[in-house]
Amino acid sequence: MSISFHPGEGLLLDYASGAIGEAWGLAIASHLSLCPTCRSTTSDMERLGACLLESIEPDPISTGSLDAVLSRLGDQADDRAALPISNPESAIPPILPQPLRGYAGGDVEQLNWKRLGLGAYHLPIQTGDDTAVARLLRIPAGRPVPQHTHQGLELTLVLDGSFSDITGRYGRGDLQEADETLEHQPHADPGIDCICLAVTDAPLRFSNFAARLVQRVINI
Ligand SMILES: [Zn+2]
Repeated sequence: MSISFHPGEGLLLDYASGAIGEAWGLAIASHLSLCPTCRSTTSDMERLGACLLESIEPDPISTGSLDAVLSRLGDQADDRAALPISNPESAIPPILPQPLRGYAGGDVEQLNWKRLGLGAYHLPIQTGDDTAVARLLRIPAGRPVPQHTHQGLELTLVLDGSFSDITGRYGRGDLQEADETLEHQPHADPGIDCICLAVTDAPLRFSNFAARLVQRVINI
């Protein structure tokens, strides 16, 4: 699996420092389960943060403090496997990463998907975060999502299949970070249905009138 689209450093830093909302954190944790590169980056951030905290003392910082921090980082360089990771060794790998299965109540075939129309399904994911909405989406292979813009931030993590829009092609593990500057019409690629986790902090703004009507009904 080759992942091309990763969260920005700001999101990873918020996650590593615990300053991220639960719904956004779920998207980042799920990406980390699939992405060794970002696991490594986040692990470095967490170690650096821990070292900085430990180095805070009432005495003035000595000139050797930076050397001490760097030395400690070197000491812990082999301790990189301690992040939440799904079980990649299982015989039939689940589609949903472990953090997400816990929230959703199972893997994709065990879930009580709700019909969206035109062959698409969704499943709201309950979190304690009232600043954002998380949901799983299942878009039929080869079908489009209506063209829309965003009024806030939208994170979309692909878990199965793939989708394409003007910014590229997103496969399993890829995470798209979209804001109000992006107007796009994602298309699930032919082959298998595209299943993704979408986290938004404001309703999408659909360009199409019919889609707006549907939006009122499903509150997407
Ligand atoms: Zn990544």
